[in-house]
Amino acid sequence: MSELSDGWEMVIGLEVHVELATKSKLFCGCSNSFGDQPNTNVCPTCLGLPGSLPVVNAQAVQYAMTLGRAIGCTVSPSVFARKNYFYPDMPKDYQTTQYDQPTNEDGSLELPDGTVIGIERAHIEEDTGKSTHLGGGGRIHDATATLVDYNRAGVPLVEVVTRPELTSADEARAYVAELRDILIATGVSDARMEEGSMRVDANVSVRPTGDAELRTRCEIKNINSLRSLGRAINYEARRHVALYEAGEAPSQETRHWDEDGGRSTSGRSKEDADDYRYFACPDLPPLAPTPAELAAIDEAMPVLPGRRRSALASAAGVSMAETSLAVERGLDTFALDAIAAGGQGISVMKHVDQNLADGVGVMTAESFAALVALEADGALSATQVKTVLYEMVASGGQPADIAASMGFEAMDNSELESLLDQLIADNPDEWARFAEGDSKVQGFFVGQIMKATQGKADGKIVNQLMSAKAKA
Ligand code: ADP
Ligand code: MG
Ligand code: ZN
Repeated sequence: MSELSDGWEMVIGLEVHVELATKSKLFCGCSNSFGDQPNTNVCPTCLGLPGSLPVVNAQAVQYAMTLGRAIGCTVSPSVFARKNYFYPDMPKDYQTTQYDQPTNEDGSLELPDGTVIGIERAHIEEDTGKSTHLGGGGRIHDATATLVDYNRAGVPLVEVVTRPELTSADEARAYVAELRDILIATGVSDARMEEGSMRVDANVSVRPTGDAELRTRCEIKNINSLRSLGRAINYEARRHVALYEAGEAPSQETRHWDEDGGRSTSGRSKEDADDYRYFACPDLPPLAPTPAELAAIDEAMPVLPGRRRSALASAAGVSMAETSLAVERGLDTFALDAIAAGGQGISVMKHVDQNLADGVGVMTAESFAALVALEADGALSATQVKTVLYEMVASGGQPADIAASMGFEAMDNSELESLLDQLIADNPDEWARFAEGDSKVQGFFVGQIMKATQGKADGKIVNQLMSAKAKA
């Protein structure tokens, strides 16, 4: 769904930087860990001291290739390159990255709704250090001093670059969420946006709907939450439309997203590749994975979220999108087991989504299936089912035993009916409104009955009784 005024469409390409879950850095033995005292995980190599030499981390390469295969890329022999630029958080004055021969190229990622997003490349590079600008607005321009922490310098990254194919903020968010789930499933990264182990640059442009040609883009750097990503994209696209409609045009530049202010601000005008004077790094040999190594990676690949969703969707009889939450919570195997044990698919999914956000605790799939059956039989009301469910999650046990020990028996319909008759007699005006079709008062009657029965009544049956009485 586009957030733009009529006649305009968005074009979005994402560059996602992912920190790999290695123990050590990309080219030295320093620890790769987040949150340590500044400048404690450093050595001559990651500080770029003269005479130091890099040695590539085999685990990092393994993770990068695993990610590449997980997103359908071709994994090819690759070459490290130097990207030359000066910045205080980059002690060598160049970043070791990959340029024209990246490890992974030409893949794709399928979103839960079936949309396929093309991936240009997913290359290996090192992270920079982290600058903290003091004073002013946290930006370098008006800073009084800048602190630099080199613990992050040389941390292994993979940068995953999409084709300019995303069409809305929602789609961009779904893409990043799916990539995060794949990273977690493969163990390649902990993908924690809030700790910066997954950072997103969003390239945004707009064009008249249906135009084939791409227009000038702006790149919003270092977005660190899904919420910011969506807001930043919508803001930026609207800014472009406003410029075009005023007879102006955006200029190609990087921009910063200001979450509090709800706007993006101009960064630097964007360098062209020429300005970086890329060349192959003479200190590092090319990477040449063997067919056996690639086969071993495919062999060890866990079942990915997309396949897990489709398996659960067909077992439960729901759509792929309706299985997202279960897969995200890692409850898909549990749900499949419960369905195999006789639990009705839609009810199983309803509980997994609505009542099991904190996991299943010590509850077994079989006892859960038994509870779902009790609910389907009408032996327990919805409120009672929830109470029993939470008890099973906390302490285990069988639903029938727990229900009995809690004194839950299904209420007799005739008992419910006489309660309802009493309520109608006590509240004739409300009842008249209900009978005339005002469904808003329905909740009042159900609520009163629940109160009188301490939640033992089955809301569905109360609703049925009310409709029957109103028609009678
Ligand atoms: P750079 O290396 O300068 O960042 P790339 O050509 O590698 O440039 O593109 C980076 C990202 O920008 C990619 O995700 C790509 O899909 C996206 N992109 C390129 N052109 C546009 C455009 N006109 N509108 C939106 N996104 C774009
Ligand atoms: Mg870029
Ligand atoms: Zn080091």
